[in-house]
Amino acid sequence: MKTGRALIIGGSLGGLFAANLLRMIGWEVDVYERVADDLAARGAGIATHDEMFDTLRRLGVVIDDTIGIRVSDRVFYDCGGKVIATLRVNRYMSSWVRFYRPLKDMLPEQNYHFGMNFTRYEQTREGITAYFSDGTQANGDLLIGADGIWSAVRSQWFPEVKPDYAGYIAWRGMVEERDFPQALRDEIVPIHTFCLPEGQYMLTYPVPGRDDDTRAGHRRTNFVWYHPVTEEKLKDLCTDVTGKCHGVAIAPHLIRPELLTEMRVLSRSLFAPQIADTVDLVKQPFFQAIFDCASPRIAHGRVALLGDAAFVGRPHSGMGTTKAALDAQYLIDALIAADGDLEAALADFDASRSLFGSRVVERGRWLGAHMSAHLTKPKHLRTPEELGHRAPDITMREFGARLCDIPDLAPIARRQ
Ligand SMILES: Cc1cc2nc3c(=O)[nH]c(=O)nc-3n(C[C@H](O)[C@H](O)[C@H](O)COP(=O)(O)OP(=O)(O)OC[C@H]3O[C@@H](n4cnc5c(N)ncnc54)[C@H](O)[C@@H]3O)c2cc1C
Repeated sequence: MKTGRALIIGGSLGGLFAANLLRMIGWEVDVYERVADDLAARGAGIATHDEMFDTLRRLGVVIDDTIGIRVSDRVFYDCGGKVIATLRVNRYMSSWVRFYRPLKDMLPEQNYHFGMNFTRYEQTREGITAYFSDGTQANGDLLIGADGIWSAVRSQWFPEVKPDYAGYIAWRGMVEERDFPQALRDEIVPIHTFCLPEGQYMLTYPVPGRDDDTRAGHRRTNFVWYHPVTEEKLKDLCTDVTGKCHGVAIAPHLIRPELLTEMRVLSRSLFAPQIADTVDLVKQPFFQAIFDCASPRIAHGRVALLGDAAFVGRPHSGMGTTKAALDAQYLIDALIAADGDLEAALADFDASRSLFGSRVVERGRWLGAHMSAHLTKPKHLRTPEELGHRAPDITMREFGARLCDIPDLAPIARRQ
């Protein structure tokens, strides 16, 4: 099979899945990551899907009980702290770094370049060149934009495509299991909790602790609180004590203390006491504004986009990293099927993954509609989705539903 050299922009999970899978079929790869230091300090909890585990197994990663915390109960609380519904599940909740580390370690060090800020590409019939802000350049046969939601690769091609703000943010944070008082630990840490006062969406779930430790006593609890805020308030949230606005995101340590107090007071007024107590225990809460984004095309010439650079669904399906893995896997399977014919493989990739990606975006909008509408539409004008009156058991089933149980997505998740 014909192979070549791939330049991969972005060294997070999408880029690493693509790099390792391409190496498996004989490609040379180089990954260029803008951040100068190891990314392992990124500390978010994530829901997982079996389809991502399949891709990891294909790369030789062992999937066993150390891959995350196995959760068997989802519990829905009312605002007073009473359990109003439960659901039996069998899912692993894990952390971003648990997947980053093995994927990064399997790539030879000399092929992963930190501190390389991609600025633009130029392509011809013979090859493609990537340019970086330090004045260097690299040549290859294929360029993969795995550079996330604000993708510079996508922006060169589609400057008009911008991520859409969903109208809400996610407050997040982690608590070490040992920092919980005993009774709260026993109640909250092992389970996946839900609490949904009007317009809000609060979840907690366990994730591995330091050094990916999954043993009881060493875990962490992650909270994610989807909370409507106007664009004006988002600017305020992203403004530090000196008055400098950092755009639509701000480093956790720069969030103004009074905003953290405001968040905690609001959490106490909205959520079950057990959940508010958990939020109070978080030492360094942070937030992410929720956006979605759809690229009109994801391959042209020698360029392909994957993961969040291609399509970003709102995170309610807990599927972003799985989608990045499946995008990378599809690309490799399309190359194998086309016997290395890049043009044919990219045409196949563009058509199939665009369909999958746009459905992921639609599903995220549907699941998040009641939060988007909360501050923007009077109640009498809202659709049933925007009113968000789902029964607790349905909410718990829909959030992070298994990919194989979603009729719109399951049949097109992989290359058949
Ligand atoms: C609140 C929230 C909760 C989430 N929960 C889950 C979950 O439970 N499960 C799940 O699977 N997913 C979840 N996600 C989504 C998940 O984090 C993303 O989908 C996933 O990280 C996408 O991976 P990626 O590699 O495509 O992009 P990213 O992880 O964004 O990586 C892009 C990389 O490109 C680099 N880069 C950017 N620009 C350049 C440049 N110019 N030059 C070089 N490098 C560059 C960046 O530094 C970064 O390392 C959640 C997201 C949010 C916001």
